[in-house]
Amino acid sequence: MGDDTIVWLTRSQWQNAANGMACRYGDTGRLDVVEVTELGEARVCCEDGHEFLLPPPAVVKPATAGRGGILEDLGVYQALLDVFEFGEGRTEYGVIEHRFAQAHRDLYVDLVGRYHHTAIACEDPARFTVSSLLAGALGRLHAEGAVRFSDGPGTGRWSYLNPVSYWALPPVPDRPPVTWTAWAQANGIDPDTWPATEGISCRHTPS
Ligand SMILES: [Zn+2]
Repeated sequence: MGDDTIVWLTRSQWQNAANGMACRYGDTGRLDVVEVTELGEARVCCEDGHEFLLPPPAVVKPATAGRGGILEDLGVYQALLDVFEFGEGRTEYGVIEHRFAQAHRDLYVDLVGRYHHTAIACEDPARFTVSSLLAGALGRLHAEGAVRFSDGPGTGRWSYLNPVSYWALPPVPDRPPVTWTAWAQANGIDPDTWPATEGISCRHTPS
């Protein structure tokens, strides 16, 4: 078993990584990290005022590209890939996590127990959550070219993350994005709630 491949970067580590990156809109000024999001992504702003997300940290360390560690052992990468639909437009992170939670219930319950989830009240909530773990795994898949990363508005229960990551299988079709709110409503779910963690108790132990 290798080391865990998901790297949780602090804001200063993210800033070091961002120093070597250019604005996605082509200008060459420096990027400032505004915040590290709950999903472990960095919200950055360039000198011209463009604000956008950098993908989760796996892409920052291409030298260590390759799966391994507990996520591979648990089958997380393949389980994530299974919930994408070929030909679907850019899909908000929450849709991916919810589908994952439904399609791979035992694995999701195990991960939530291990890593905590912000939807569950916890006496000592962890900064690192199952959502940041899954987003990091998506970042790894993005670094491999297996999925595509973009950003857009967080909706419904996820609207406090703005922007939030959107994901799709390549080639990404020119179709409207699939938001959590639209997808939840189409599936009979109140988008302001997060039913995926109902009935799961947190086994997270404070470190
Ligand atoms: Zn810019």
